Amino acid sequence: MAKDNQFVNQIADIETDFPRWYTDVVIKTKLVDYGPVKGTMVIRPYGYAIWENIQRELDARFKATGHKNAYFPLLIPYSFMTREAEHVEGFAPEVAVVTVGGGEELAEPLVIRPTSETIFGAMYSKWIQSYRDLPVLINQWANVMRWEKTTRPFLRTSEFLWQEGHTAHATEEEALEETMKMLGVYKEFAETVLAIPVFTGRKTEKEKFAGAVATFGMEAMMHDGKSLQAGTSHYLGQNFAKAFDVQFLDKDGTHKYVYTSSWGVSTRLIGALIMTHGDQRGLILPPAVAPVQTILVPIAAKKEGVLEATEALCAQLTAAGIRAETDTTDNSPGWKFNEWEMKGVPLRIELGPRDIEAGKMTLVRRDTHEKTEAPLENAAETVRNLLADIQANLLALAKKRKEERVVPAENMDELLQGVEGGNFVKAGWCGCRECEDKVKEQTAATARVLVEGEQADTCVCCGKKAKHVVLFARAY
Ligand code: ZN
Repeated sequence: MAKDNQFVNQIADIETDFPRWYTDVVIKTKLVDYGPVKGTMVIRPYGYAIWENIQRELDARFKATGHKNAYFPLLIPYSFMTREAEHVEGFAPEVAVVTVGGGEELAEPLVIRPTSETIFGAMYSKWIQSYRDLPVLINQWANVMRWEKTTRPFLRTSEFLWQEGHTAHATEEEALEETMKMLGVYKEFAETVLAIPVFTGRKTEKEKFAGAVATFGMEAMMHDGKSLQAGTSHYLGQNFAKAFDVQFLDKDGTHKYVYTSSWGVSTRLIGALIMTHGDQRGLILPPAVAPVQTILVPIAAKKEGVLEATEALCAQLTAAGIRAETDTTDNSPGWKFNEWEMKGVPLRIELGPRDIEAGKMTLVRRDTHEKTEAPLENAAETVRNLLADIQANLLALAKKRKEERVVPAENMDELLQGVEGGNFVKAGWCGCRECEDKVKEQTAATARVLVEGEQADTCVCCGKKAKHVVLFARAY
């Protein structure tokens, strides 16, 4: 027991020091390390394997909805950024600019992409001539760079990985439909793959993407009651089409500007996974994205036949499509249990001489710590069912929190109390920027999304007539 406690104590207390807990977990589980340049991160193999699973699941969904992947350059002429007024205003403070190449001052400075609407716009103006060329549905998997002042691994770093979809359409209706469709794809993905239930909705003018007509976001509730923006889908109207002269000849013989959308999720999702499901012992990874779904630990591994039997079982699970590994190191079983628990592996199988003799295995779930025995016969089916159950249980737990921790507020005191208690707060808002700013000033909460289909009488801030119901929260 002494050893167990010592191990657990390596991670800061999740309830009293959540920020430290987060840092301890991402570093100790070897998801990530700090890069030599301030604000950068190295995504280590264990973290990158999670990203690969996220990519694979999302990419299949993008393809199923008609999108194709492409790759656009990292460098963008600085002048592109200035063509859309809101866009440059929003991004100028955080762009990294290349001014020297090959030892010579460049004639025009180049921006390291913070996002790619401008370069897609420039290329689409070449590629789109007629209504026959539409819609264009392209996604790219890429890195982007935003010069951030305060950074935290996965949550905010100067360089991060993401995907960005950029689509062009003949009509406003089609572009809006695409915007909402991809928000729906993200929501379904978040719930079924990441086991993270989300709130979705339109963002306020203040919170929308620089250059968009409207931004729709999905927000997830973290362990500490703060919100994490987990993905966004933007309706860009004709803003970028006009800035980059993306016109097509329509069926009626006239030239028209296209309507565009863009949408993205990033390696932030890994941060969301950690802060949604983790506990005092470390990570808890949903089976759908866990790099190792089942870890096999031989007990009394030096006894004849134990290691062989464990590896044979592991091979059987792997052949059935389960991501299984055997821990063959010479660490003690207790040490291994702690290590793999901290790394969030959903299921552990222990196999010792007595198990083998009795034709059974011992199974321990990471989510509930429940320990059961099952026959070695049909092991793959047993494991698959348990993993499905763990996936469902993680979603149910997160849903329960999401539902329990939304409270209403009629005035600023209630709003403050709500967010200080680790809740999201639903309140009326008159729609004016002054009130939105005041809420942030006094409570450190921001408008996460506008709630559809609900009404409130008065604004939580000024008491005037409410135009919207807003979900307020402190956010990452
Ligand atoms: Zn107001």
